[in-house]
Formats: sequence, structure tokens, C-alpha cells
Amino acid sequence: QAKDAGRGGFCFFAPEMNARLFERRAMELDLRAALGNGSLFLNYQPQVDVRTGQVIGAEALLRWNRPEHGLVPPDRFIGLAEEIGLIGQIGAWVLQEACRVAATWPDPIGIAVNVSPVQFRLPGFHETVRTALEASGLAPSRLEVEITEGVLLKDTDDTLAELSRIRELGVHIAMDDFGTGYSSLGYLQKFRFDKIKIDRSFVKRLDEDPNAIAIVRAVVGLSEALGVTTNAEGVETVAQADLLRSEGCAEVQGYLYGRPMSPEAFTQLLQAGRSAA
Ligand code: C2E
Ligand code: MG
Ligand code: MG
Ligand code: MG
Repeated sequence: QAKDAGRGGFCFFAPEMNARLFERRAMELDLRAALGNGSLFLNYQPQVDVRTGQVIGAEALLRWNRPEHGLVPPDRFIGLAEEIGLIGQIGAWVLQEACRVAATWPDPIGIAVNVSPVQFRLPGFHETVRTALEASGLAPSRLEVEITEGVLLKDTDDTLAELSRIRELGVHIAMDDFGTGYSSLGYLQKFRFDKIKIDRSFVKRLDEDPNAIAIVRAVVGLSEALGVTTNAEGVETVAQADLLRSEGCAEVQGYLYGRPMSPEAFTQLLQAGRSAA
């Protein structure tokens, strides 16, 4: 390869590298087309009151059915969308679509929407939130924006001001993946979140590791002291749910209660829950 490069002067990269760049470029082009061709869609995962077992809301999770490739998980294209300047448009679409769908659900069933750090820092992000609420007619208190610590890493004053603007709209703000960052406790001091979502990794370890119980207990205790509600993500077993309930965690979410599903399936779940009650 090096010989080829020396002679032709064109081949700067090893062939594997070329293939990777080519694939990335192809993915980029497909992603740019995605908003226009309907290949992006949302799934909804139920959020459940751990004491009553009632569905109280859903988290919207983005899916991409990439033509000729099939389903691509968000972890594999959100970063790319951020890099190529597409996250603003995609994120705005997610907010609009999630609010539009949630407005068809009975009040006060809520909707949680993930917001990436790059999306959050785009100028006028709160206007995007306001527009989605106005277009859908959804009551602001039924919308929750989920941010990760990546949002709080930079520009503290601007970030806090923007969080306050979103709160002033009446929207709730949740800290996602709590406990996985470097300075999770510090963030709680900077801003009073409405909800803390205990990361799936802690819930998973509840089964085998007594330290995980201590961590959940500490996070729930801290949240209570701060007047913040708690959600535990990735609950897969009854044993995990029982532990979380006895530790006073308010809300659970995970495969035990439902995988991310189509809006139709979620509506059916809501109806089944109501007729059972
Ligand atoms: P997240 O917000 O922490 O979402 C939870 C992830 O855990 C989801 O993965 C969900 O499908 C998965 N999950 C839920 N319950 C269980 C369980 O019981 N067991 C296991 N093993 N997994 C469970 P998903 O949908 O692949 O999303 C991954 C991440 O991508 C999300 O993490 C979120 O950070 C991001 N994401 C998803 N949708 C959006 C979006 O619309 N915008 C942005 N910016 N990010 C998004
Ligand atoms: Mg989330
Ligand atoms: Mg999470
Ligand atoms: Mg995550």
C-alpha cells in the first residue's frame, strides 16, 4: 500500500481506512436523507409507578430504519448527526413528533424526550421546545426533557440559564444515566432536577452485588432530601423491581414492564391498563 501511495500519490490511507471512510460517508448521506424519507421513527417505552404498577408515561426512543441496512440503534448515529450538524433538525423532529403523539394520550400521561449535549447548546434550543408544545397543544407539564451530564460539562452559566428557560415553560427536566459520570453529585448542586434516572448499570448489579443496593439507597435518599423524584432504568426482573420498591424508588422502566414499542402498541397498553383498573 505504501508503495502504491508513493507511486500514484493518491492513496493516503490503508485500504481498510478507505473502506471505513467510505462507509461513514455513505452513512452520512443516508442520514441526511432520513428526515425526508420517513426512515426515522420513535418507539415508546413505558414508565411505571413501582408501587401501583400503573403506566404513568413513556420515554421516546429514536430509531432509524436505514435503507438497505436495516435498524440502526441511536448510539450508532446520534454522534454522527452531531458531527455533521444534523442533530438540530433531527432533535427538533423528535420533539415535535413525541409531543404530537403524546397529545393523543390521556392526561396526565407524560412523555420523556432525550436531548443530546450538542442539540442542547444550539442557540434557541428552548424555542424548539416551545414550538413543539405549541404545535401539539400538549400541556408543558406532561413533557420531560432528559439530559445527560455532557450537557452540564461546559459553559455553566449559559447552560443553567437555558435549563431555567426550559423550566419556565413548565417542562420537567430529568438527569439521565445518573451515576455514570465523573462528578454526578456536583451536578445536583448546580441545578435542581425534577427527576434522577438511576443508570441501568446499577440496576443490573442489584442481583449480584450488595454494594449496588447501597448505591441505590444512597441515590434515593439523596433525591428525597433534594425533593427530586427517582426513576430506575433497565429493570428486567421482579427481584430488581421488589428491591427498588422497598428502597423507595418511585418509578421504573425496563423490559420487565415493556420494551420500546410502536405508538399504536403503547396506546393499546394504556387502554388495557385503564379497562383493568
Ligand atoms: P437512554 O436514554 O438511557 O435510554 C435507555 C436505553 O436502554 C434505550 O436504548 C432502551 O431501549 C434501553 N433499555 C430500556 N430498558 C432496558 C432493559 O430492561 N434492558 C436493557 N438491556 N436495555 C434497556 P436505546 O433505545 O438503544 O437508546 C440508547 C441511547 O440513545 C439512549 O439512552 C439515549 O441516550 C440515546 N437516544 C435515544 N433516543 C434519542 C433521541 O431521540 N435523541 C437523542 N439525543 N438521544 C437518543
Ligand atoms: Mg433517556
Ligand atoms: Mg439512561
Ligand atoms: Mg444513555
